[in-house]
Amino acid sequence: MNEPATLQERRRYYREEWNVKKLPDFIKEGMEQREFGFDHLGKGPNDRYRIFRSLEYLKRFMRYKSPFAAYCSVAFYDKPFKRADWIKSELIFDVDAKDIPIRTCMCDNVCEVCLGEAKEIVSGLIDTLKGDLGLKDIHVIYSGRGYHLRVLDETVMKMDSDIRAQILKYLVGSEVPRSEYGTEGEKYQLEHFSIPFGYPKVFTQRFKYAVLHLTPNIEMENISPALFKKVLKNRTYLLTDEWGLFRKNIGPINYKKLVKEIGALNMGLVDAKVSIDLKRILRLPTSLHSKVSMKCMEVQNIEKFDPFKEAVPKFVYERDD
Ligand SMILES: [Zn+2]
Repeated sequence: MNEPATLQERRRYYREEWNVKKLPDFIKEGMEQREFGFDHLGKGPNDRYRIFRSLEYLKRFMRYKSPFAAYCSVAFYDKPFKRADWIKSELIFDVDAKDIPIRTCMCDNVCEVCLGEAKEIVSGLIDTLKGDLGLKDIHVIYSGRGYHLRVLDETVMKMDSDIRAQILKYLVGSEVPRSEYGTEGEKYQLEHFSIPFGYPKVFTQRFKYAVLHLTPNIEMENISPALFKKVLKNRTYLLTDEWGLFRKNIGPINYKKLVKEIGALNMGLVDAKVSIDLKRILRLPTSLHSKVSMKCMEVQNIEKFDPFKEAVPKFVYERDD
């Protein structure tokens, strides 16, 4: 990862490279209803309650201050300067590469490998948001060390924290789907992997991803070392969707244990605090993530996006080291 940006580099970035017109439309529209926040010294965003009535004011502010970090609220308010009279909030999913519970790189911070894994996870979340929940107004932002998914469909913007938490659990596959179906007299068993729609399908996809990315350093409370070995040995069956063989080889009781553990791990895929917070501020797209010297930016095509090509500001290439 890059070295932090110096004040000179930040100034250069905001004077020469940054352009207020490149702010995404979803930020520009209704900008005057959002709260802005800034971190000037690299100690956290303590310059809060700022508002900008036009792009011109924001442009002047950024040029003049060249902040260490810039943020704006996910919420829209009638009185953003007081953080009062809340109208609505974007629905946010924050996938930080450093915090992914299962990542194969084992690096200390973030690297190409875990950023790539964050991207894969984000793609899966988008598919579910679109396919299962019918949401359309979804924006992907590269944050500098992971991704923010920002949903602006009117149907979700007024939702309270409880509903947002429910959507989050559905999306990441944190709850084990029931396997017993039927009415009182006739009960039958159906495992999640044999149901090709709805939540069982989402859970199956997340479970598969997690098991295929397990590394020996991951600790799971109720999984013994012997069972862990068995899982690693048999997981190739999941590549070809031979779920029955996988379950049979590790044993049905063990399978139940594994499913529970993976569900718990999946809860860590997305930062839940961010999703349920209706008044959060998030890093402003187009602004500089000074700690890692990368641009926070909207991603148009997640499949093709390469942060190490597209999100590196010019001054990084001109450093002499
Ligand atoms: Zn890494």
